[in-house]
Amino acid sequence: MTTETGPCAFFDLTPDDLSDFCRQHDLPHFLGTQLREWVYDKGVTDPENMTNISGRNCDVLVDHMIFEQGSVTGHQCDSDGTQKLLIDWDQPPTKPGLPILESGAGRETESVMIPTDTRKTACVSSQIGCPVGCTFCASGLGGLDGNLSAGMIVEQIHRLNHLEDVGRITNVVFMGMGEPLSNFSAVTNAIRTINAPWGYGISARKITVSTVGLPGAIRKLVDFEIPVTLALSLHAPNDEIRRTLIPWADYVTIEELIDACQEYFQKTGREITLEYLLLRGINDKIEHARELALTAKNIRANVNLIRYNEVPGLPYERPRSEDVRRFQETLRKLHINTHIRASRGRNIAAACGQLRHESRREIKPA
Ligand code: SF4
Repeated sequence: MTTETGPCAFFDLTPDDLSDFCRQHDLPHFLGTQLREWVYDKGVTDPENMTNISGRNCDVLVDHMIFEQGSVTGHQCDSDGTQKLLIDWDQPPTKPGLPILESGAGRETESVMIPTDTRKTACVSSQIGCPVGCTFCASGLGGLDGNLSAGMIVEQIHRLNHLEDVGRITNVVFMGMGEPLSNFSAVTNAIRTINAPWGYGISARKITVSTVGLPGAIRKLVDFEIPVTLALSLHAPNDEIRRTLIPWADYVTIEELIDACQEYFQKTGREITLEYLLLRGINDKIEHARELALTAKNIRANVNLIRYNEVPGLPYERPRSEDVRRFQETLRKLHINTHIRASRGRNIAAACGQLRHESRREIKPA
């Protein structure tokens, strides 16, 4: 665990890990429970402010435990209540072969808090950059710079939970930067903490993992003990269009993905969400809606229509409102359950990865 390799990161630790930590450092065994209450219930991460922890124990924590690994380097608020954080990670774990990143050189991720009357949704990142490189997305523009650890993913909830005047996060979606299923172990460990009664206690149905689709990893998720909601980023009515939008679609067909999702539904009983990003003139025509309906009928799914938020430098346009309406009507006439996702945070670089992309452009030499 910790002392041989330096301080350990609180948000990476399970209750058993915390007990080990206490044993290693000659701390009382009940300290683990106290720490979890301070951090997950009260949002306090400075040991000096944990009033029931003695001076000696506090000193040990200061020397041997890191509570916050990231620092917030950007914070934007939209008039609709959406807030976005840019977090710079101290020493992010990288994949073998990837360079160690200097501060501000692109080791940042985005986290977004989206409020409605009834919920506060955290949209979290799972990787620094993204290996998929969807042609419409700002997050994939620079490729993958590294994976986030489980603790770094959980820390994003902590950061969003304690934005001023927000209240506690009620829902979590893995729709930020990265392909969550390609960082499987960190993502599933983070979900354990987010879901656990000793952690944030957010129920499985309020946690959504969104993937462009790795059939093998979806099948692994079938065996994961927490039946989260699965969202498949389909974005195209057929393989041909999908390959022009999502490079990984070269390796997997829609049919293979739907088979894997079907298995997920059968095992968990959770309806699948098909995410469909509408791009003007590319995939928003009536014939595309009809083709999409054929796919959606093969699976118990809701279709979530998303209007594209334009990204400077990318060639795609937001669809026209009348095309979006006609697309939805066509699906409904064909008995497909469908919703248009409300556009949130349009005034604060709303597209995934856009704030980070802009921040990277600012620090690049001319
Ligand atoms: S849309 Fe998602 S999977 Fe595609 S590049 Fe962006 S972050 Fe990666």
